[in-house]
Amino acid sequence: MSRIVYVNGQYLPEAEAKVSIFDRGFLMADGVYEVTSVLGGKLIDFDGHAVRLARSLRELEMENPISKEDLLQVHRELVSRNGVEEGMVYLQITRGAPEDRDFVFPDPETTAPTVVLFTQNKPGLANNPAAEKGIKVISIDDIRWGRRDIKTVQLLYPSMGKMMAKKAGADDAWMVQDGHVTEGTSNNAYIVKGHQIITRGLSNDILHGITRAAVLRCAEEAQMEVVERPFSIAEAQEADEAFITSASTFVMPVVAIDERKLGSGTPGPVAARLREIYLEESLKQAI
Ligand code: PMP
Repeated sequence: MSRIVYVNGQYLPEAEAKVSIFDRGFLMADGVYEVTSVLGGKLIDFDGHAVRLARSLRELEMENPISKEDLLQVHRELVSRNGVEEGMVYLQITRGAPEDRDFVFPDPETTAPTVVLFTQNKPGLANNPAAEKGIKVISIDDIRWGRRDIKTVQLLYPSMGKMMAKKAGADDAWMVQDGHVTEGTSNNAYIVKGHQIITRGLSNDILHGITRAAVLRCAEEAQMEVVERPFSIAEAQEADEAFITSASTFVMPVVAIDERKLGSGTPGPVAARLREIYLEESLKQAI
């Protein structure tokens, strides 16, 4: 079955959906995105994603072309038309397609943003077997730009990082800057030592994960101690547990860092418990 996607106000079969070659998303990575997960046919953390999208657009001086209500409606319509029970909705907004390539931003009066959404069907997203086994990460230098808090479509280095991990027989990479872990290629990074859950604090150095915010709320409600501070790879290798969070992996245990096993090399109880609580809570609040 061909997917129905959304492009600039229209619902179309994916093969008929087109964007100009002059689109600044294509030529300059001048665009932002969001990924919202779908469980039981409902959207998880939609509000958080809509708020972050508005912020990303504002930081790049792009007008927000779609209201939160309309955005919710388009998300729901796509989930319904494509019969998605478990999966994701990908959304991208670019600065649009001016008549020619130019470094100068086009006049928003004459160049409308491009808005694209599509669904990704992923049956078994919540019962992902990887969560039972845990994932392995390697460390790599963080050589990305200085505004990682803006969710732009400049994903070349994270994509290269994922390939470096695959080549090394691992699943993902944790990026390191000035001796401290910033985040994973597409997720936020955590370690657990004793009673503490440790994760880097929010700044321009990392994406302000929507799952991160929700998981930290769950942790605090469950009386777990959360400490927001940087940590090194050496400290992480000595931790009791480690895990990552993102909209598509929820809470995913990390069992090895640069080939060094954490503890027994199996997922730890804190990550497993947080995954359970987060999934339970977010399903309750799904819309
Ligand atoms: N950091 C980076 C670099 C990411 O790409 C992502 C996921 N897009 C995250 C963190 C996690 O963010 P979220 O929980 O909002 O998916």
